[in-house]
Amino acid sequence: MQLSALVDWIHRYKDEVVARKDELTDLDRQIGDADHGSNMARGMQAASDKIDAAVPATVGELGKSVGMTLVSTVGGASGPLYGTFFLRFGTAAGGVTELDAAGLSAALRSGVEGIVARGKAEPGDKTMLDALLPALDAIDDANAAGRPEVEALEAAATAAEAGSAATLDLVARKGRASYLGERSAGHLDPGSVSSAMLVRTLADAAK
Ligand code: ADP
Ligand code: MG
Ligand code: MG
Repeated sequence: MQLSALVDWIHRYKDEVVARKDELTDLDRQIGDADHGSNMARGMQAASDKIDAAVPATVGELGKSVGMTLVSTVGGASGPLYGTFFLRFGTAAGGVTELDAAGLSAALRSGVEGIVARGKAEPGDKTMLDALLPALDAIDDANAAGRPEVEALEAAATAAEAGSAATLDLVARKGRASYLGERSAGHLDPGSVSSAMLVRTLADAAK
């Protein structure tokens, strides 16, 4: 995937979280503090503006710019977690202008490992990881089968959406929603929905 397509991903993700801001906030109203949509829209708008103003020359610079902007503009859990994702993504990618299938997979995995290291959540804890971890596995399966990048990312987006949908029945064990205990079941995790959007917009940007 070319740097220009990854820049396009950031713009598409910004457009998506801005368009679905109220939906994300409504989900967070059910089991959190009703700010996930505004957090993500504010953060991604700032990240998008920043890369327009200072165009990144490498994938590493792109990840660093987006990650630092998210960490500094979004309070709450999601800013540091998505910020860490992009910082680690950029560090893993390094000073290149293109990622091959293995490189993209490795950079995404490094980013998600950053979320795990920072948030200490496990699969099934009803967090963004329940969308992101299945997406990584889908990419690796598709790469191992020698399928083209667009198909691998399409499979990843579908896996992320299924993982997010499956948070409905889970009891939250991390983040604000965990304060509700059993009452968190019956609601989608808002961060898993924004994470499924992150993977879907990546698949769209690769087309
Ligand atoms: P806050 O909860 O601080 O208001 P947001 O509402 O923006 O922050 O983000 C909430 C989302 O963050 C949750 O829906 C969940 O997906 C994610 N999240 C919270 N804590 C963790 C964690 N420890 N690990 C991974 N994701 C987490
Ligand atoms: Mg919140
Ligand atoms: Mg909050």
